[in-house]
Amino acid sequence: MYFDYAATTPPNDEVLKTFDTVNRDFWANPHALHRPGLRAEQLLEQARGQVLALLGAESGFRCIFTSGATESNNMAIRGTAYRFKKRGKHLITSAVEHPSVLTVFQSLESEGFDVTVLPVLGNGTVDPEELKNALRPDTTLVSLMHVNNEVGAINELPILGKVIKEGSDAVFHVDAAQSAGKLPIDLSKLQVDLLTFSAHKFYGLKGSGALLLPEKMVFKPLLYGGGQEFGLRSGTADPARAAAMAKALRLSLKNWEEDFAWVSKLRFQIQETLQKIPEVEINGSLDEGSPYIINCSVAGIKPETILQGLAEKKIYISTVSACSARQTAESFVVKAVTGDTKRAQHSIRISLASITAQDEVDGLCATLPELIETLR
Ligand code: PMP
Repeated sequence: MYFDYAATTPPNDEVLKTFDTVNRDFWANPHALHRPGLRAEQLLEQARGQVLALLGAESGFRCIFTSGATESNNMAIRGTAYRFKKRGKHLITSAVEHPSVLTVFQSLESEGFDVTVLPVLGNGTVDPEELKNALRPDTTLVSLMHVNNEVGAINELPILGKVIKEGSDAVFHVDAAQSAGKLPIDLSKLQVDLLTFSAHKFYGLKGSGALLLPEKMVFKPLLYGGGQEFGLRSGTADPARAAAMAKALRLSLKNWEEDFAWVSKLRFQIQETLQKIPEVEINGSLDEGSPYIINCSVAGIKPETILQGLAEKKIYISTVSACSARQTAESFVVKAVTGDTKRAQHSIRISLASITAQDEVDGLCATLPELIETLR
């Protein structure tokens, strides 16, 4: 029983089929001028158009295919910061961003940029008022996540975008790794300039993602070479991965409402179970936030011990975040959300997917209270 879908999801069969077909039948270099190359290019461009359309970005945006959200975040933040550094060197982010955002800001800070790291509210979201007060005439970039990967908090993008655009000339970058495919995103209605995501979070393949950015925006790439992907990401593009990602996104968004309702029902069942266990506290919000992610702190027991106990029963959850290379230290996200070090040291994450079954949740809800009692 797998409850670690925020770390990754299994690739969907149809996605694998698309990947296989394109690899077999359209394997030519999409940048070559011969007929097989042009056919591969056609598929690549078709996938690009589909991704843009699925995110309301058909007009005024470009889609750059990348190796995933880590690369997209690096490219977006570094690219924008350097691009506008003559205008200003003030950048804004939040305390609960993914390490692929926070560490980029840390490195920019060491290069002389001035970075404001916003605190978050008790539900894990950024306070629009706090953001408004942090904006300055020399702010060139604000980078905030849509859904938090540890506690599931959902930032209100329409409100935050409005605050940024009304109060500054800053570019707004959003890390949507935990929301793309699960929540609708319509860039035509948001004041968001750049959007990051990874395909493997919505039943696509690992090693593929994208950065959406304004058509007119140019900046220095991370990778130099043949100038592919509008000069922003050199290297031979992969039509198979691109087509697989477009398909994964389309399939996920097709049923998003139904999936959201199903996962919400499971989430409430799990929360109810957790709330009945003494000295277990839910981190983040109980009823707002993404239903796909539940985080709680279990006093008195090391998270790794709970993980092991559950694993012995073939139930797999996670501590901190699998994305941070298996560290077992305290969760900086839970610390920022609760202000409580003990809670941050004792947090576990249970994450769901549309494919999570009722009997799996029943199994988890029967096992967890008993295990915690035994371990105590
Ligand atoms: N941002 C967020 C919010 C994430 O959850 C993740 C994946 N854990 C990433 C970025 C990085 O994605 P990837 O590992 O696919 O590059």
